[in-house]
Amino acid sequence: MAVNIQAYQTIQQQLAAKKATLVAVSKTKPIQDILALYQLGQRDFGENYVQELVDKQAALPKDIRWHFIGHLQSNKVKYIAPFVHLIHSADSPNLLKEINKQAVKNNRNIQCLLQVHIAREETKFGFNEAELMQLQLAAYQNITIAGLMGMASFSDDANLLRTEFKCLKSLYQQYLTTFSPSPASFSILSMGMSSDYTIALEEGSNMVRIGSILFGVRNKPTA
Ligand SMILES: *Cc1c(COP(=O)(O)O)cnc(C)c1O
Repeated sequence: MAVNIQAYQTIQQQLAAKKATLVAVSKTKPIQDILALYQLGQRDFGENYVQELVDKQAALPKDIRWHFIGHLQSNKVKYIAPFVHLIHSADSPNLLKEINKQAVKNNRNIQCLLQVHIAREETKFGFNEAELMQLQLAAYQNITIAGLMGMASFSDDANLLRTEFKCLKSLYQQYLTTFSPSPASFSILSMGMSSDYTIALEEGSNMVRIGSILFGVRNKPTA
């Protein structure tokens, strides 16, 4: 299955107008597909599965910025801690604690987004608003909280998606005023996938995670 280069260029133009970043979601896709986009200048790639990410990182150019976007189990943080660029899916105090521990071990600072539960569905991971505002982040000295991430409902109801994205945007703003972290480090609002990224951009996303439009549909179910 070939990479859709035309779609890639169209998306990059749409994003440039909004100063937003594309994370090309390459989960389940082969090394050659990643290299095809790499050769066009793409450097941010997203993966969901720890073992797959570790294997790809070892095989691919070292200037790729690897984003971990799937649900992350605490006992697997150690495998990606040496190199991961941004963890989008920090969704519990326990996980933050483990990421911080592994960051210390690797003598680095790891950037994380707090994943917020915005969808109607019960199944999606993430903090709710109260949990988000109660986090004690000072304990995580080797973590930079770089922003928020959310996944909208699996739905083609544009109004519902828009409402959910608006909710995340408003939490992002609220978070900025509550915690007033340095604006230089808290600056990412990661929302939008293949099916809903145009709505997400309209609602203020500055980082989209797109897989199937670029690489074709996946056979394996997503985590
Ligand atoms: C798989 C995945 C994506 C990309 O999904 P597409 O519909 O293929 O664009 C984005 N975000 C997360 C968290 C994912 O798991």
